[in-house]
Amino acid sequence: MRRAMARAEVGDDVFGEDPTVIRLEEEAASLVGKEAALFVPSGTMGNQAAVLAHTERGDEVVADADAHVYYYEVGSPAMLAGVQIRPVHRLLSPEGVDRLKAALRPPDIHFPRTRLLCLENTFNRGGGTVVPAEGMAALYALAKERGLAVHLDGARIFNAAVASGIPAAAFTRYCDSVMFCLSKGLAAPVGSLLAGTKAFIERARKYRKALGGGMRQAGVLAAAGLVALKRIPELAGDHHNARVLAEGLAALKSLKIDLSAVQTNIIVAETVGPTSAEVIAILGERGVRCVAFGPQLVRFVTHKDVNRDDIAYALRVARGVLG
Ligand SMILES: *Cc1c(COP(=O)(O)O)cnc(C)c1O
Repeated sequence: MRRAMARAEVGDDVFGEDPTVIRLEEEAASLVGKEAALFVPSGTMGNQAAVLAHTERGDEVVADADAHVYYYEVGSPAMLAGVQIRPVHRLLSPEGVDRLKAALRPPDIHFPRTRLLCLENTFNRGGGTVVPAEGMAALYALAKERGLAVHLDGARIFNAAVASGIPAAAFTRYCDSVMFCLSKGLAAPVGSLLAGTKAFIERARKYRKALGGGMRQAGVLAAAGLVALKRIPELAGDHHNARVLAEGLAALKSLKIDLSAVQTNIIVAETVGPTSAEVIAILGERGVRCVAFGPQLVRFVTHKDVNRDDIAYALRVARGVLG
C-alpha cells in the first residue's frame, strides 16, 4: 500500500484532474452499482455531505436510535444541514418496517417535512450485525411510497456482503446513496466514498468543498484506497477471528455475549460484575484493546493486523484476568 501511494499518478482533484482519484471513484461506483462516486476524507464527511445533498433546512431525517449518523457524528446533521433527526428504536431490526410506519407522520402544519431515511449496514452498535437485503428492501419500499430518499451508511457494507456471500450491490440497490469506508476493516489510512446518481454526486461535490474536503493531489490517498478494495475477500478471515474470540470470551464468567449477533468483525460483550472501564483497563495493560459501548458494554473488533496468534493471546489474557 505504501509503495502504491508513492507511485500514484496525481493531479489536482479540486479541478477533477487526479487520475487515481477518478479511477477509485469509478471502481467504487461500480462495486455498489451506482452511477458515480465521490472520494471524501472520512465516513462522517460522506454521511454529512449526503444529508446535505438530500435535504433542506428544517427537514426531518429518520434513523435508528443507535445509528452512527445520530449517535456518533457530533450532532452534525443539526449543526451543518439544519435538519432534525427522528431517532427510532429498533428501526434496523426485523420489526423495522412497523417502526418506520409508526414514525412517519402525515403532512400537517405542525410537522417537519420528513425527507430522508438513513440505514446502516453492517450495524455497528447492533454488534456489527448484517441487516438482511430483504429487510432493506422492505424499508426502501415504504420510504419510496412516502416520498423519502434513502441513504445507506455502509461504512462496513463489504463486511455485510462477505458475511452473506452476496455482492455489495445486492444491498445497495435498496438505497439512493451509500457511503462506505476504505479505512476500518479495509485498512487504508484515510478515506471513504459516497456513491449515488450523477446529479446527486454533483451536489455532494459542492458540499464536500464547503465542508473543507476538497483535496488536491489526493491520488496518493486514492492509491491506498485501490489497494484497500482488493482486501474485500480477506474480511472473511477477520470474521473467522472474531467468531473464535467471541466463543472464547463467552465462556468467561464476567462477560456475556450473544453469539448469534457475532456475524462479522465486531463483538459486543456485556460486563457482569466489573464495569466496562475496569475491563478495558485490565485488558489494556496487557495489550488487548477494546472500547466502551456503554457503562457495562465493551466492543472488540478484529482487523488486518490481528491474526490467529493474537486471538489466542487475547483469550489467554482474558482468561487470566477476567475468569
Ligand atoms: C466509522 C463509521 C463512520 C464514520 O467514519 P469516520 O471515517 O470515522 O468518520 C460512519 N458510520 C459507521 C457505521 C462507522 O462505523
